[in-house]
Amino acid sequence: MGVFDSVGTLLADIANIISDGQRILSLSDKRHWGQDEREQERALNSVLDEARKDFQELGPLVNGNGRSQYEHDRRHESMEELRAILGKFQALNERLKDWSRSGGPIDPTWVRETYTIKRELHRAQCRAAMRVFTSAREASQRCLGAFIVQRKQRAPLRDAKAGIKPDETTLERYYKEELIACKAVGTFQRFGDQDIAFVCDFCDGHLVWEDLERMPTVRSSTRAVPPSSLSSPVSLLPNTSNWQASGVTNCGQHQKQVIFAPVAIANHIIPTHGDWEAKLLCPLCEEIGEQPQDEDDDEDPYRPDEEFDDVKSLQEHLEWQHGTATLPIGLPTTTTAENNCLVM
Ligand SMILES: [Zn+2]
Ligand SMILES: [Zn+2]
Repeated sequence: MGVFDSVGTLLADIANIISDGQRILSLSDKRHWGQDEREQERALNSVLDEARKDFQELGPLVNGNGRSQYEHDRRHESMEELRAILGKFQALNERLKDWSRSGGPIDPTWVRETYTIKRELHRAQCRAAMRVFTSAREASQRCLGAFIVQRKQRAPLRDAKAGIKPDETTLERYYKEELIACKAVGTFQRFGDQDIAFVCDFCDGHLVWEDLERMPTVRSSTRAVPPSSLSSPVSLLPNTSNWQASGVTNCGQHQKQVIFAPVAIANHIIPTHGDWEAKLLCPLCEEIGEQPQDEDDDEDPYRPDEEFDDVKSLQEHLEWQHGTATLPIGLPTTTTAENNCLVM
């Protein structure tokens, strides 16, 4: 630990400490092991697995020009967070050492503690990667978490460009992977009595859906909109017809249309210092903004740089500025709505 610390060296230190912990456990007399000792061993293994996986996945996302920027990054906040986690694993090891010397059953609360530090480590890696990501892209404040989901949404288009015609299985895979990406980026939780919030692991930003019983997990439509559709029949990148999902209100059990969660997640921006709620960009305006514009058109309702304060104001904007009226309730949507509903 010292002035030459970087994300890479601190993660290596953390991995070594965890391996030490695993060694202490493995050298203890396993004949006296019970459920708690085995749980502790599993917990340590899972920390190491996740830390390695995060490192391998996050690095390539933020590295530019073939340099391992993530590994060599030494931003002060990232160093502080990783050092604090290292300290917690060191303290845990000390207790494991005492336990191995004195014998007896292991303290079962250590397992829970290990999982808590595991979660902190995951979030520290997400935030460290995001700091590298945003400093390289000053023009856009889209969160790295949003970027990860958006990448999944590009899959159908990417495949279509490569001449791949998706079959039913491939389509199912697109939908599933989009949701998996969201869950890898943050967590859904009940928020207040009636709302559901998504909390991003990368930026801590909250996205709030008001008055919603469960978060719908399918879109009302996945239709691609010509002419940009190429040969892909579906689009997960938002267009005028596919940003909605059908949900049920918490109070009164009325059906209502909401922004499909991955659409909002893929377009959130990092909250400015002190804010808890993440603002959002309109993906449809953004797409229009990328096309050549008529210079004197002051009346243009599309504002690619406009930020929306919350999910509700983005939804109002989509409904008013991008044409499609809310889809009629009861439209034959992707089937089995019952099973597909859940706080994800
Ligand atoms: Zn975020
Ligand atoms: Zn817009």
